[in-house]
Amino acid sequence: MSGVRSTCPYCGVGCGVTVNATEQGRQVRGDPEHPSNFGRLCSKGAALAETLIDDGRLLAPLVDGRPAGWDEALDRVADGFARAIAEHGPDSVAFYVSGQCLTEDYYVANKLMKGFIGSGNIDTNSRLCMASSVAGHVRAFGGDVVPGSYEDLEEADLVVLVGSNLAWCHPVLFQRLADARAARGTKVVVVDPRRTASCEIADLHLALAPGSDVALFQGLLVHLAEAGHVASDWVAAHARGLEAALIAAARDAGEIAEVARLTGLAPDEIADFYRLVARTERTVTVYSQGVNQSSAGTDKVNAIINCHLATARIGRPGMGPFSVTGQPNAMGGREVGGLANQLAAHMGFDDPAALDRVRRFWDAPRLATRPGLKAIELFEAVADGRIKALWIMATNPAASLPRADRVRAALARCPFVVVSDCWPTDTTRFAHVTLPAAGWGEKDGTVTNSERRISRQRPFRPAPGEARPDWWMLAEVGRRLGWERAFSYAGPAAIFREHAALSGFENHGTRGFDIGGLAALADEAYDALTPTTWPVPAQGRAGGRLFAEGGFFTADGKARLQPVRFRPPQAGPNEDFPFLLNTGRIRDQWHTMTRTGLVARLMSHIDEPRLTLHPDDAARLNLGPGDLVRVTTADGETVLRAEPSEAQRPGDLFAAMHWTDDFAAGGPIDRLVGGATDPISGQPELKATAAALRPLPTQWRGLLLRREARALPGDMYWARVPVERGQAYHLAGWDALPDGADLEAFAATLLAAPAAAERLEAVDRRGGTYRYAVLVEGRLDAWLLLSRAGGAAVPAPATLAGLLGEYVADGGRLGVLAGTVRSESPAGRIVCSCYSVGLDTLCRAIEAEGLASIADIGLALKAGTNCGSCIPELKGLLRAAEAAA
Ligand code: SF4
Repeated sequence: MSGVRSTCPYCGVGCGVTVNATEQGRQVRGDPEHPSNFGRLCSKGAALAETLIDDGRLLAPLVDGRPAGWDEALDRVADGFARAIAEHGPDSVAFYVSGQCLTEDYYVANKLMKGFIGSGNIDTNSRLCMASSVAGHVRAFGGDVVPGSYEDLEEADLVVLVGSNLAWCHPVLFQRLADARAARGTKVVVVDPRRTASCEIADLHLALAPGSDVALFQGLLVHLAEAGHVASDWVAAHARGLEAALIAAARDAGEIAEVARLTGLAPDEIADFYRLVARTERTVTVYSQGVNQSSAGTDKVNAIINCHLATARIGRPGMGPFSVTGQPNAMGGREVGGLANQLAAHMGFDDPAALDRVRRFWDAPRLATRPGLKAIELFEAVADGRIKALWIMATNPAASLPRADRVRAALARCPFVVVSDCWPTDTTRFAHVTLPAAGWGEKDGTVTNSERRISRQRPFRPAPGEARPDWWMLAEVGRRLGWERAFSYAGPAAIFREHAALSGFENHGTRGFDIGGLAALADEAYDALTPTTWPVPAQGRAGGRLFAEGGFFTADGKARLQPVRFRPPQAGPNEDFPFLLNTGRIRDQWHTMTRTGLVARLMSHIDEPRLTLHPDDAARLNLGPGDLVRVTTADGETVLRAEPSEAQRPGDLFAAMHWTDDFAAGGPIDRLVGGATDPISGQPELKATAAALRPLPTQWRGLLLRREARALPGDMYWARVPVERGQAYHLAGWDALPDGADLEAFAATLLAAPAAAERLEAVDRRGGTYRYAVLVEGRLDAWLLLSRAGGAAVPAPATLAGLLGEYVADGGRLGVLAGTVRSESPAGRIVCSCYSVGLDTLCRAIEAEGLASIADIGLALKAGTNCGSCIPELKGLLRAAEAAA
């Protein structure tokens, strides 16, 4: 295999890739030998090469907004932190890091903050992702351990997906499951308030009320016990707490009728689910953000784990509870102690022996002795002035944290903010010092995926400008603060060796995370490290499944079932806010779109932020598809396009988490999400915020195409879509379009034509349609359509975007202005991102060519033949065509 082997930087599946340089540029392919993906990639992974763009990157350090050298910038960082510590103590400073950091970055950050600065105040955006799973694992297993591997999904007879849209959020894992189902008839149950793409392979979809998972699994535990499925001998030998867990479960959910009342499910479907689980020993329960991002997230995790422990369905082939993480290195962060309530290497603050051990290992006399502030608390402390110096790495909390406006206000008030990142973001705007970070393809280190597999991220291109890795910046600051010896690393291999040595230090099998067997890796062996599943102790059994024969990481080696109780979301619907807003991911985007938003074909699957709601709710509010609706919560408001869909339960809403101020007038949806958190894990409730809706009569719609991105007025709806040769903006307004000179001025603002440009216009006042084009040296620079209600239809961006930059001959001007000269045959919204196959193309081919299967579509159009992420949508189209026929 030629090329550089690395790992995809997006989700927690952790797919291996190979990167080759070709005449056309770099080519990123799935690594056929990587055991997590065996060559597959999803649409995001397959587009990685297109994100390797230096344009717009942060290329040099900035101090107070002006370019500076590294020495000046790092001196300023060290000085800012040293002053705050000297004047206000170590707890007046904090780091907020990211699941995008490599383990080596994470390790140095944790060591600097907890070991040498002497505060627990380092938390990570993984708090938003899987902190509840961590807390649930620790309560049940005595350590943060995922017991199984991806193979278990292929060897199971039943896979239950709880709060997990695997098809869109972990697509390669979904493809592995779909293939296994096709080969061996695996039953699949989806437990999710929404009918998601994952339901395409589901035998049963339980559309339960948001936040009611605990009741469903309490009822399951009761049913398993009553039906005689408790593995009494195994439980007696390897677990405690069954009786208390059963008593608690019976109180809330002892009868199916009660489960039905709490979950909103029909008694029959609950009974079907319980019978299916009871009779299927090989059951894997996969859970993700729908479980974790909840004010009862930890209890949900333990309610699921309780059922597996009671039946001894854990650690054996095809069975076990399985948390899948959202981020590429959420697990690596957990290994080093990147969460504020962890110490290091699966050791906690609650164990004096662990504190002593870590102090001795690091030779760190100022070691923090108590947990620091979790993400939401941390930004509250920034807001109320307790945090005087904050370093944010590889994450964008100004867009992605709940109550984003409050976070922005807190950052604006913070005396000293450092941000290290690859691109300018909503957060870099608040930085006193901005540090240009090396990105994917430039960084060198390791990540750990959801199945405990450590893989290398290897560099294959030089970092642009002066960008440097985060570990290097941290070590430089550590040395400037006076800890020369502790932070003199020769490179990532040296950091990894130290991290591995700490994991094995005085471990003796007491801690799950032990890679002491890798502590002596030479630099060459680190470079060549193949994907490796922990534990890898210096002596003893490595890798594999855990817990089939007990061996939990508690004092007595026994697991703990938890007596969890049901409680609904903290901020349920009420008179003022009668809906419940759920937020989450879409198929082709990643986080706040700093990378995936660069790729036109990824943007064209879903190219506007939408609010999905049940058709009955939409009808009641007189909202049709694409109509504007104002969404208001106790913390903020935004305007989105309505998308009525049977996939939603009545009363529930869904909006994607990806859009920011850079991409849409409404900015991040996290403006609207409240501050409720799980009391144990501190994870925010991102999936259940009470909301109100107000339809906004759409007075006009429009489309703007421009070569360059630029800010648009805020008192209207706009959403930016990168297209092949520039930018498209969907436009709409709830206030009437101005008239006369005001309209001309408005159009001029949108077009922003250079002085030497030639402007064409076609105005149909009676019809309410206004068309403009700007030519620079005869080439199309901008195009604008504004259409009052009842005016001309607004075309899709892709039909015209290819004309941007094209020379327009005199005879062609009218056609370009009218939009009748098209750059493409109308393919419609992109469904298959890998081969850019659009909805209209698919519908035409299905009808005209009689395509009746996924294989037919693949042969005719190639759609669905690469990553497979679009297959659920293709199946939906085939079903719709069949129904229509
Ligand atoms: Fe990357 Fe997709 Fe694999 Fe996730 S499933 S690691 S996003 S290629």
